[in-house]
Amino acid sequence: MQLLFGFLLAILIAYLAYRAHSLNKSGALAASFTGMIIFGVGGWQWAILLLTFFITSSVLSRSFKKRKQGLDEKFSKGHERDAGQVFGNGGLATAFAALHFFFPNELWPWLGFAATLAAVNADTWATELGVLNPHPPRMITDLRKVVEKGTSGGISLIGTLASLAGSALIGILAASLHPTTDSFSIFIIITMSGLAGALFDSFLGATVQAMYYCPTDKKETEKHPLHTCGTPTVHIRGWTWLDNDWVNFACSACGAFGVVVVLIFGL
Ligand SMILES: [Zn+2]
Repeated sequence: MQLLFGFLLAILIAYLAYRAHSLNKSGALAASFTGMIIFGVGGWQWAILLLTFFITSSVLSRSFKKRKQGLDEKFSKGHERDAGQVFGNGGLATAFAALHFFFPNELWPWLGFAATLAAVNADTWATELGVLNPHPPRMITDLRKVVEKGTSGGISLIGTLASLAGSALIGILAASLHPTTDSFSIFIIITMSGLAGALFDSFLGATVQAMYYCPTDKKETEKHPLHTCGTPTVHIRGWTWLDNDWVNFACSACGAFGVVVVLIFGL
């Protein structure tokens, strides 16, 4: 019954998101799949966490449009997410929901699931709210180096606080939806793991993420093969396979890794 209801709910939400232009066609198919596993296998607690990420990131991506004008890089895809973005952000969360099916009485799939979502939520909040920082960001690998807003690897005070808030929101939900265990510990573990994931995302952006150059705009960009202006971009640094979707995946994996560390050291 839950399985069937979860399936229908996932398809309905993906369809509404598609109609609202939050997802394109491939994104809607991917979201139906991830939603079906997470809602169907996990149930309503899992659904609340996923929807919190999905709804807040969709709303934030539509907010502060004026501030984002001219920052074509991170925001050029508009707010329509494709399958790569859906799996980059939610692929690992889906895997943890599937693991819950095999280990229904264990807490760790829930912690892993929550930590991956805390990480991608933290990262999204930082990206979308970081534009409100009054000063340009600084490189995470060299805080003396000031960079343009929207540069991968750039961090700011407002962005980092947004990260913490985005992570803490998932942390609070993860703890309160599992009231039988030590809620405060869960809150701390998830919040810290999520923040670590978002910082790792920035670190990869500053170091090994594939970066390109647009000769027309004379600008660094993540976009490849074509820039938003239509000009073919040239690879300048980073691993060519490590695009933004894989960086988001690594961000979520770092969140899950935080939980693994805590469980191994038995906190
Ligand atoms: Zn260009």
